[in-house]
Amino acid sequence: MIAVFLGPPGSGKGTQAARLAKRFGLLHFDMGRSLREEIASGSKLGEKIRSYTDIGELVPISIIKEIIEKVLEDSSNESIILDGFPRSEEQADLLDDVLIRLGLDLKGVYFFSIGDNAIIDRITNRRYCPVCRKVYNLKSAPPLIDGKCDEDGSELVTRPDDNEDVIANRLDVYRRKTAPILARYRRKGKLTELDATLAIADIEKLLMEHIGLQ
Ligand code: AMP
Repeated sequence: MIAVFLGPPGSGKGTQAARLAKRFGLLHFDMGRSLREEIASGSKLGEKIRSYTDIGELVPISIIKEIIEKVLEDSSNESIILDGFPRSEEQADLLDDVLIRLGLDLKGVYFFSIGDNAIIDRITNRRYCPVCRKVYNLKSAPPLIDGKCDEDGSELVTRPDDNEDVIANRLDVYRRKTAPILARYRRKGKLTELDATLAIADIEKLLMEHIGLQ
């Protein structure tokens, strides 16, 4: 089962993917995280990736292609939530090709719909644990102790691209490159739109119904 979670940055798709993955034993593949891990490894490739993520631009398709092919080839029997991929027409074409080649079916594309003001508010309040990667929101899902991860007590940090200047560009890139692919999935009858401003538990319930997770 392959499900795609699609939406602007800060729409909560990563939060939902992580919850469902934990609850139902699915594989949550988060492209942004995978890219950040490559950056953290200090490799030459990571350096190149950083020159794009730092300014909120999409990383070139050649790099994305290698990563996604490996993920789908290595786990062709698992149920996977793709979070943050595809993000452009050419990436959607790539996904089509890989799914056909591996004989995998796209269950659906779940679109997290939310306005810009709510996004900026969410992202500027986002913090994460650099050790276990748990994500917090200072307003809606704060840690139990100020600035510390609930799981391992590590000092929480802000992503370098979660500042207002870079967010503005990420939203622009989303509008120009990612939003247009919604039409393709709508046409194919694969698109489900969700109100991303609902409570976390309510969105989770809707996703479970639509994806068919019990
Ligand atoms: P995210 O964690 O999903 O907000 O992604 C953080 C950054 O990683 C984005 O602003 C892009 O620079 C890069 N990125 C994530 N996913 C992709 C993708 N599918 N294609 C190209 N770049 C991506």
